[in-house]
Amino acid sequence: MDSVSDNLSGEVAALLAPLPSLQVQEYFNQLITSRSCNGIEVKQNLSNGKGVYAKSEFKEDELILKDQILVGIQHSSNKVDCLVCSFCFRFIGSIEKQIGRKLYFKNMGLSGCCDGEEDDCVKYNGNEEQCGASSSNHNSLPQEVVSSLMNGEMALPYTDKFPLPSPLSCPGRCQEAFYCSESCAKTDWETSHSLLCTGERSETISREALGEFIQHANDTNDIFLLAAKTIAFTILRYRKLKAEYVNKQAKQSVSKQSLLLEAWKPVSIGYKRRWWDCIALPDDVDPSDEGAFRKQIKDLACNSLELLKAAIFDKECEALFSLEIYGNIIGMFELNNLDLVVASPVEDYFLYIDDLPDAVKEEAEEITRPFLDALGDEYSDCCQGTAFFPLQSCMNHSCCPNAKAFKREVDRDGQAVIIALRRISKNEEVTISYIDEELPYKERQALLADYGFSCKCPKCLQDSSIA
Ligand SMILES: [Zn+2]
Ligand SMILES: [Zn+2]
Ligand SMILES: [Zn+2]
Repeated sequence: MDSVSDNLSGEVAALLAPLPSLQVQEYFNQLITSRSCNGIEVKQNLSNGKGVYAKSEFKEDELILKDQILVGIQHSSNKVDCLVCSFCFRFIGSIEKQIGRKLYFKNMGLSGCCDGEEDDCVKYNGNEEQCGASSSNHNSLPQEVVSSLMNGEMALPYTDKFPLPSPLSCPGRCQEAFYCSESCAKTDWETSHSLLCTGERSETISREALGEFIQHANDTNDIFLLAAKTIAFTILRYRKLKAEYVNKQAKQSVSKQSLLLEAWKPVSIGYKRRWWDCIALPDDVDPSDEGAFRKQIKDLACNSLELLKAAIFDKECEALFSLEIYGNIIGMFELNNLDLVVASPVEDYFLYIDDLPDAVKEEAEEITRPFLDALGDEYSDCCQGTAFFPLQSCMNHSCCPNAKAFKREVDRDGQAVIIALRRISKNEEVTISYIDEELPYKERQALLADYGFSCKCPKCLQDSSIA
């Protein structure tokens, strides 16, 4: 190995090395203060594992934590169903726009109308029924009606009870990212989107290469988009830290590597393994083909990374573009598996109409009924994606958890909300369930093995002694 790549592998190793526990503690203390969720603390044990503990008592149903997203994406396939802010994932536009947009894509055969069950789904092609299974419920509306709903010319009754922020276009002019506010647009631009925007004001090296990278991710696995966002986030933090350092004209010199490590710190907190090592073997892959399967996954990551490099490579942050780091970032999302879910206001709207007093309900439903019928069963798909939540990701699993992720009526954006399931006493560990905890013991253990551990919660200990 020559000295250049020697140097680089040293940098990669430094990025993957666990942070000293004092720095970890400092990071989480700051995070907890900034989230104003002072009832909890993160504690580390000897084996470098982390856990969240109650610093004060929580009552049943009490809010324990609202955790902001570090990096997150809306799934590519969900974008046709929901128009949300690209930064905070709040629904934007209007009830009319949400419904009109969904019907528009549905008429084009793009909406997730059959939820992956492609066998039953006959793609709409102009004059055929949309879905074989439930075609009787589906009435498509004339395109003019859909368009006038989408562009705001037609108003539905009572939608003023469900106001949504007007969408702001991306400052880079990509026409793909939209925002609920100037502040979301600005923060997204500064933290990652300026490098990943496909618009004319993008700061990418090559918009063409970026387009190819995005296409590849959409065709294979959109987790690559999340990995790219993480790398862009780190590069931009690095540049900001460097600029601050230069501005301060600090007397002691600070190395490029220590700036990169500092920029990477929020990502370094997440538990990582290489994606191709930790991904669970799918049921349809024969165990004897495991080696070939893992090699295939690694090659896929390698191809994606080459495309990303052509789009946003930065020599000073070269270590971030190593396959080792790329694989570990993707593995981090795989292992922490944190779903991003935001409920749709369209559902609330139709429930509201349904609850109206009979006298006015009839009149309203005459107008809304054709739209509800045209939307079909999936009239209120929620926003779905994947995100990394720094504090929630420290919460350990239990099959008899004392807390759960739960969105309340007021929680309208992508933040993770953790609520107490029962009384939690001071110093008790706060646990959530990563899986369906009602499953039998063996199935639970199998699912949890994908997260890389075997559960020893009270329920599992009891079940294993019976088994
Ligand atoms: Zn927003
Ligand atoms: Zn953009
Ligand atoms: Zn258990």
